[in-house]
Amino acid sequence: MIRKKLLLHIIMSGTAFLLLTGCVKTNCPLPDNINKHVQQVQIKSDTRSHDLKRNSWSMGSLCADRITFKEGKQTWTFLLVWNTEHPKGPFWYLPHDNEESAFDAAVYAAKHYGGGFLAIESNDQRHVSGKDPNRNFKRDSLYGKKICKIIDTYKPVQLPYLALHTNAEGHIKNGGSGTVSMRQYSKNILAFPAGKIRSGQQKGFEDEDTLIYLAGKKVQKDKIKKFTAVGLNVKFEKVTRKSNDNSMSNCIVLHQKHNNYINIETEHGDIATHKKMIDKVMKIIGQKRI
Ligand SMILES: [Zn+2]
Repeated sequence: MIRKKLLLHIIMSGTAFLLLTGCVKTNCPLPDNINKHVQQVQIKSDTRSHDLKRNSWSMGSLCADRITFKEGKQTWTFLLVWNTEHPKGPFWYLPHDNEESAFDAAVYAAKHYGGGFLAIESNDQRHVSGKDPNRNFKRDSLYGKKICKIIDTYKPVQLPYLALHTNAEGHIKNGGSGTVSMRQYSKNILAFPAGKIRSGQQKGFEDEDTLIYLAGKKVQKDKIKKFTAVGLNVKFEKVTRKSNDNSMSNCIVLHQKHNNYINIETEHGDIATHKKMIDKVMKIIGQKRI
């Protein structure tokens, strides 16, 4: 009788432990060329971020590592997540820790297309010590170099530099609350809608907040058409030394001399549209599901 009780206790506490921790793989050994450049910090069950906890049952063969590096006085912390069965593949950069569904979309992408992603960890806040991590790619900066090194470990040369973001509903200039919209454009950031544009909460592909960003020194009309033809709204960022805002897209174009950058954005929480956009972009760049 006592033995049965003990056994039951062990089963119950084991189940409780699993429910608490999920089955996400963590703390995998880092590839050598990343290990040299960053510090690995062990993830314990009580130091997992909300992003990891929320996805702990859906990560399949993905592994999550916490890595940090110092840049002057600033310590940057990231989750590096990659598909251990298919590590080579599309690799995404997620600079904003408040954009939760972008993280969930990245989990979807790495599970279904291989590769992985690098997500800033900053207690679910957009900024880190008052800095926007996506305005920190200064020329020859340690930050830019380390991030590109990590991306290039997983990304095959021919694939684009990829990013995932979400944005707030609408645009503040039109009564919305965000700063990104298909309805707002400038001489440096041009808008190419795929069709009708609608305002309001989560209107799928027609939503003003559903768009991809491309970047280059000159507008690439043929490239833009490939995306608008499958229903994806495009914003094209014309990057010059003068307009450089030290974001990842600007760094890729100016310092990596690369015209191959795609950032996929939806309204906060619209994970269904985000996944469909990833599928369409993967098809265009010739990346098959694994
Ligand atoms: Zn963002």
